[in-house]
Amino acid sequence: MLVFHYTGMETCETALQRLCDPRAEVSAHLLIDEDGTAYRLVENGKRAWHAGASYWRGEADINSASIGIELVNPGHEFGYRVFPDAQIDTLIALSLALISQYDIPATGVVGHSDVAPGRKSDPGELFPWENLASCGIGLWPDLAVNDGEEHGTPWESLTRIGYASPGDPHCGGDLLNSETAISDVISAFQTRFTPQNRSGILDDQTQSAISAVARAFS
Ligand SMILES: [Zn+2]
Repeated sequence: MLVFHYTGMETCETALQRLCDPRAEVSAHLLIDEDGTAYRLVENGKRAWHAGASYWRGEADINSASIGIELVNPGHEFGYRVFPDAQIDTLIALSLALISQYDIPATGVVGHSDVAPGRKSDPGELFPWENLASCGIGLWPDLAVNDGEEHGTPWESLTRIGYASPGDPHCGGDLLNSETAISDVISAFQTRFTPQNRSGILDDQTQSAISAVARAFS
C-alpha cells in the first residue's frame, strides 16, 4: 500500500526534526517539501510508524504493509493550504516508481484519513486525488456515471471499498470511536471523493458516489 499524509507542522524543518526524533515515535519513508525536495527517512524495506491504529481492505497492520509519504503542509491546525505543483510533481514521480517496484494495486493507494477515520484528517480535502489518478496513481471513478443498479447497502459498499465498518471488530470497527463512528467513516469517504460535501451525512449525493466508487474498487 501507499499512504499519503500531510505533516501538520508549520515548516519542513520542524517536521524533519520530529520525524527524526526517536522519542516522538513517528516516522515515514519519505518527506516531500513544498518546493518538491524529497527526503528519504526510512528505507522502503523497513517498517515506519506513520499509520498508527488503522484498517483498510482486511489489513489491520498498515505500517507493515505500506510505504508512508509525508507532504509538508501546515494542515488544518496551522493553516491548511493547496499543495504546490512542484510538491505534487515529486509525489507523482516517487509514487509511480514505488507502484511499479512493489506492484501496488490502485485500491491500495490511500490517504491517512481513509485508514484511520475520525482519528486523522490528512492529507485532507485539497489533496489532488483526481490529478494523481490521471497519472495512474490510485482510483478516481467517474462519479457522474450511475448504472442505476443496486449493489447492496451503502455500508456494504464502503466496506467493499476498504473502510472500517462501525461495530464490526473483524473489519476494523474496534478502531473507531463508537460514538461517532458512522459520521467519521462517511466524512473520510467524502473528504476523498466528494470534497465539496463533507457533511458526515449519508445524503443522496454521497450514496450515489459510494456506489460509483465501490464499483471501481471491486
Ligand atoms: Zn498522517
